[in-house]
Parts: sequence; structure tokens; C-alpha cells
Amino acid sequence: MSTRADAIHALLPQTQCTRCGFQGCRPYAEALAAGTTSINRCPPGGQATIRELAHLLQTAELALDPECGSEGPAMVAYIDARSLYRLRSLLTTLPSRCHRWSATPDAYGAQRSLYRL
Ligand code: SF4
Repeated sequence: MSTRADAIHALLPQTQCTRCGFQGCRPYAEALAAGTTSINRCPPGGQATIRELAHLLQTAELALDPECGSEGPAMVAYIDARSLYRLRSLLTTLPSRCHRWSATPDAYGAQRSLYRL
């Protein structure tokens, strides 16, 4: 059964960076569900996540709490499949907001993929 914390957790970036002041995204989601913290403590999620949380929890959108850090620009990671061991394992651990951006074959025919974080 899906809980309120599950719905909140699904909106968070899953970087487990602890910048929100909790031990990861799940504890932050549970605190939000319990109403013991505010929606503006996740720099990786930035304003877009704050907006989604405000909508889900039917509360006012807030600016990111500067004590938690600042929202950075989107980053791009280049992954060369030939140089990685256990690539499948890596891809399953990428944050949920890491989207495959493009895939092109290189000069040897191997796929080169760009991921947007
Ligand atoms: S700051 Fe955001 S991404 Fe980092 S652990 Fe907290 S909820 Fe997860």
C-alpha cells in the first residue's frame, strides 16, 4: 500500500546527499509526511521539487532554504560503456532524475550515452 511518505519520496532526487539535514531522501520524506520539517530543504531537487512538494502537500511554495545549500546547474555525465565494469549495476543506482539524454554510436560502434542529472 502506498503511503503519503511514499508519494513524497517518489518526488525526491534520490542522491542521498544528506544536504536536507536527514540521512537520505527516505528519512526526509517521512519527516515531511509527519509535518516535522519544511518542503524547501533539498538543493538537488531545487525549486522544481519544492513546487511539486507544495502541490502534493497542498501548501505554499517556498524558496530553497539557503542553509541547505544552493541549487546548481544541471550536470551532464558521460558514460563510456566499454570502460565500466558492472555497468548495469551503475545504471540502476543513478538518481531517479537522471535521464538518458542521448545515445550515439562511437567510431567502434559502441553506444555512447549522455545522462542529464
Ligand atoms: S537533500 Fe534532497 S537529494 Fe539530498 S538526501 Fe535530502 S532529499 Fe535526498
